[in-house]
Amino acid sequence: MVHDALGNTPKLSGLDIERLSRLAFEVGPIRPPSEGGSHSLLLRATRNCPWSRCKFCYGLIYNREKFQLRTVEDIKKDIDTVREIAEAIKGASWKLGYDGTVNADVGTALIRTDPSLNANQSFILVYNWLYFGARTVFLQDANTLIMPSAELLEVLKYLKETFPNIERVTSYARAKTLAKKTLEELKELRKAGLSRLHVGLETGDDDLLKYVDKGVTSAEQIEAGKKAKEAGFELSEYVMPDLGGRARSQQHALNTARVLNEIDPDFIRLRPFVPGPGMPLYEDYSKGEFKLSSPHERLQEIKILVDNLNVTSRLCFDHFLNSWYRDRSRRYTLFKQDYEGYKFPEEKNRVLELIEEGLKIDESVHIHVKDIIGMAL
Ligand code: SF4
Repeated sequence: MVHDALGNTPKLSGLDIERLSRLAFEVGPIRPPSEGGSHSLLLRATRNCPWSRCKFCYGLIYNREKFQLRTVEDIKKDIDTVREIAEAIKGASWKLGYDGTVNADVGTALIRTDPSLNANQSFILVYNWLYFGARTVFLQDANTLIMPSAELLEVLKYLKETFPNIERVTSYARAKTLAKKTLEELKELRKAGLSRLHVGLETGDDDLLKYVDKGVTSAEQIEAGKKAKEAGFELSEYVMPDLGGRARSQQHALNTARVLNEIDPDFIRLRPFVPGPGMPLYEDYSKGEFKLSSPHERLQEIKILVDNLNVTSRLCFDHFLNSWYRDRSRRYTLFKQDYEGYKFPEEKNRVLELIEEGLKIDESVHIHVKDIIGMAL
């Protein structure tokens, strides 16, 4: 490809690529896998976690750094930057004859013109977002709902005004925070465009909630979940198999089913527990005070959970840690790992059949959590 004196491909001449390569907005460290699957735009509304005490949480996710609210003004500036990056990318598309459509050729041409764009997180994020339709946004970090409602409403309003085609805006929310918001506040946030909430339920067992220092009771979780549903949110509740280890396995499963039955969320997403350095529960595990279950025992725990579920939710195994396998090749996982999972009650029996299948397969075929401790997950 021929480049002009500025390094631009001839068709991109006139575009201020140098400015594009300098544009950046703040991005936090994590997002739910399903938001990755939707290629959501990541917009940082708060920094870190306001609780930061759960014993099963990797300190490294937010480095246990101090929680900070960002100002509405700063978040709006970031939205403006996203708009500027998006306009530049679309401008390149027009110059290349693609009528504003963002396709692979547009990305290639821009990166050929300025290879530094390939390592520019803001550019890559916006490019991918546009490439996949620019329909969803995820507000980071761990509990954006803790923002004063008036401020969060202002951010949502600005976001929707700037990008009217956004169909879904999502956030993590602590159950404690959700329970504290009034139904009216939640309804207003929903109306303003916040549409999906991800809540870390982990367990519905009060004894275990206390042990892992989750900072919430099962009654508060139920109140929070019901309120979120009543306000019209699409609700994902995350459950952590084996969080109670062998000792609390049964109470964990039974009480989690009890709480989920009360809430009846849209999605129940399983995230099996893996202790790791940097996590307070790892200390208990290292000292032998916390005993992990074997792969079959974990399946037995999920069997009790599923058996006792009376919900209309979708049960999802959408994480590679749900690694029970069908045969020694380990090419096929027992459960499908897509983001839509199994619809209850229609597919409840199917899940129970799969669990029985997994229990018949030699335990050595499945991945034992002990073998992956310390790996970068
Ligand atoms: S609320 Fe979430 S991010 Fe915060 S400490 Fe607990 S698990 Fe970690």
